[in-house]
Amino acid sequence: MRTLIFIALAAGLAAQQPPAASKPKPPRQEMVGDDIRGYSDTPQIPGQKWKVHDMERPRPVKVTPPPFVSVPPPSDAIVLFDGKDLSQWVTRGRGGVTEPKWKVENGYIEIVPRTGRLVTKEKFGDCQLHIEWMIPKEARGTGQNIGNSGVELMTRYEIQVLESHTNLTYADGGAGAIYGVWPPLVNPARPQGEWNSYDIIFEAPRFEGDKVVKPAYATVFFNGVLVHHRRPFLGTTVWRRVPEYRPHPAEEPLSLQDHNQPVRFRNIWIRRLTLPD
Ligand code: MG
Repeated sequence: MRTLIFIALAAGLAAQQPPAASKPKPPRQEMVGDDIRGYSDTPQIPGQKWKVHDMERPRPVKVTPPPFVSVPPPSDAIVLFDGKDLSQWVTRGRGGVTEPKWKVENGYIEIVPRTGRLVTKEKFGDCQLHIEWMIPKEARGTGQNIGNSGVELMTRYEIQVLESHTNLTYADGGAGAIYGVWPPLVNPARPQGEWNSYDIIFEAPRFEGDKVVKPAYATVFFNGVLVHHRRPFLGTTVWRRVPEYRPHPAEEPLSLQDHNQPVRFRNIWIRRLTLPD
């Protein structure tokens, strides 16, 4: 009798379900309280023993960085933001190229959420980039939703920006990560309301036709601490998938990600490098 009732109930429930195709399966995100640990249903990262955003991957060890030093640009640097205006930047969206809507005040830029990413007018390939960023003291959120932005080299190879002093997320998604591929070697993130710096040496990928013959590499100092030593990107940064390369020109703009959260930037300068192929 119980079995019959169960079958009847199950049949009734099944009848109420919409067809499977119309209901996308939500990603399986493992959480303990507010601690977003990552995923277990993502693909393996090629050449690594971890999956993309792997919940089991150990998070980088915290390191107290040296006192903050705001490094001024050398004479051959292109100054992308000197505290005054966004004259070196545009926003590119569905409406084409427009004036950026991000705020400039008190010598810094602040993301105005959902107004689109900030894109340089100039294009760059191999480069040395200095940029300073801060998560405002008032910012609230957890996991990937507090202080999320990113330094997008060639508009597609992302070094993650995120509140990572106290906030927890998956290892390859914290501040300084080559997002989705490599966690930083250590975590020297400063608290909200304090400035952080990235000094990035970026090597652009080389293509021959559709084939990548040299991947993109990043060497990154985060608050003066080495967090990546010539780490390869696997392709264009993506979420929950294995990145892939798609051929693009030798130089592309630098962009800063709009991930719907307020983050501040200042003292941004870049030097073109001529590196061997
Ligand atoms: Mg990001």
